[in-house]
Amino acid sequence: MRDVLARLGLAAVNPGAYAGAPIVGGYAGRIESLNPADDSVLGAVELATVDQYESVVREATRAFGEWRMLPAPKRGEIVRQMGEALRARKDDLGALVSLEVGKIRAEGLGEVQESIDIADFAVGLSRQLYGLTMHSERASHRMYEQWHPLGAIGVITAFNFPNAVWAWNAMLAAVCGDTVIWKPSLKAPLTAIATHKVCEEVLAKHGWSGVFGLIIGGDKDVGETMIHDHRLPLISATGSTRMGKRIGAVVAERLGRSLLELGGNNAILVEPDADMDIAVRGILFGAVGTAGQRCTTTRRLFLNRKISGELVPKLVKAWTQCRIGDPLAEGTLVGPLIDAGAVEGFESAVATAIAQGGEVLVGGKRVEGPGNFVQPTIIRATPQMPICREETFAPILYVFEYDTLEQAIAWQNDVPQGLSSSIFTDSFRSAETFLSAKGSDCGIANVNIGTSGAEIGGAFGGEKETGGGRESGSDAWKAYMRRQTNTLNWGRDLPLAQGISFDV
Ligand code: NAD
Repeated sequence: MRDVLARLGLAAVNPGAYAGAPIVGGYAGRIESLNPADDSVLGAVELATVDQYESVVREATRAFGEWRMLPAPKRGEIVRQMGEALRARKDDLGALVSLEVGKIRAEGLGEVQESIDIADFAVGLSRQLYGLTMHSERASHRMYEQWHPLGAIGVITAFNFPNAVWAWNAMLAAVCGDTVIWKPSLKAPLTAIATHKVCEEVLAKHGWSGVFGLIIGGDKDVGETMIHDHRLPLISATGSTRMGKRIGAVVAERLGRSLLELGGNNAILVEPDADMDIAVRGILFGAVGTAGQRCTTTRRLFLNRKISGELVPKLVKAWTQCRIGDPLAEGTLVGPLIDAGAVEGFESAVATAIAQGGEVLVGGKRVEGPGNFVQPTIIRATPQMPICREETFAPILYVFEYDTLEQAIAWQNDVPQGLSSSIFTDSFRSAETFLSAKGSDCGIANVNIGTSGAEIGGAFGGEKETGGGRESGSDAWKAYMRRQTNTLNWGRDLPLAQGISFDV
């Protein structure tokens, strides 16, 4: 463990403010980063002050003035080298993700791979960033639109993707010509520092500083200052719906832009004609992967009554076979929850579900001993139980029975969140119904794969209380730029649009 930390340049106590290089000076206090598997201390971080935030913003704003004028393909070349640097450090960064937030080894490495993938995607994008051209109604006129960089943008990230969520934003923003100020979760500060350093080394090699800034500070002082800051035209925030409602309101009040990626309450539907083997595997990975701490974790399972008697025992068997333990040990499938508070949230949700009429089919208890481990849990429930409408960030799967596909879709949609959804079926008609305008109301809807594990090529995000934001692939880059419509007159007359005559 100490080797990994040392190779990534982490010290016992690390500064919490970087405008490229670390900002020295008085800090606002100190936090420790704990390994959730055994509560050991990985390292400490000095919390940034509002004054240090000021320095980071000033530097990001200054750097923006130059970075925006570097041709996009040249920005792309620097991002390509960041992707290479992340590739070279993938093993260590992946191990650090496992140590700091408890992901199993494959998932820690997979997270860093997502950052590499989005860097590759951004490189291609740097030669695109296309605008449209339009035909003008006026003779000898040309119309087109172009996309310009937005400015210094704020990126606020959740603990559960401490590396990739920043990269989804930062790699696109960088090729778009923006500079980025990152405020990570206080539950995963070391991954943020190590990731920043890897990318910063590349920028420094090319003589750039201030393109990426990092500020590790409290929500009440640094966080609130950041979201109120008029100099940041965009705040991209990933986290709970509670946080998103606050940030969305503050940024809207100053007529800024926000890109919100918030909580999910994702469902899988299983039709009688589904391939049961792949359904069991898809449900298992969706519900138990990352110990239920993905925004796209499967939290609700709708089984057609005709097959629920056959499927439930298979699921219970698969659940009991999941090996819980040290996330870096061979064969572990379920690591710890992030902290003791998350374990309490798990226990409280299980107790509430039982009080509301739910029946625990498997799991339901914390694992005694060091660390923050809980048993992956399945609870037989009804869609009307209030607890099933909430996101509990833990491996709890609520199972329901339904009779018709229409009923299952209506129940699936009848929650405040709208992130990810899936159907398992071999029926073309059922699949298309699920994907149609009267089907799933989520930002992501899949057929014969689970709700989690999205690829970076698609736009990622969800509707309703998930916040409506889209990140990552497709045309999500547009959120990081401003659109300008240009009309050029190359003739000798001045015709007006809509046939208006204004002659003197
Ligand atoms: P959280 O809401 O507790 O914190 C998220 C981030 O917001 C942290 O960096 C936190 O410091 C910051 N924050 C909170 N209040 C703030 C304020 N007033 N001003 C500025 N910053 C503030 O979330 P978490 O526990 O870290 O992460 C879990 C949540 O994130 C879950 O709800 C999960 O579904 C969601 N999530 C969503 C996505 C997605 O893409 N939709 C991805 C990952 C996680």
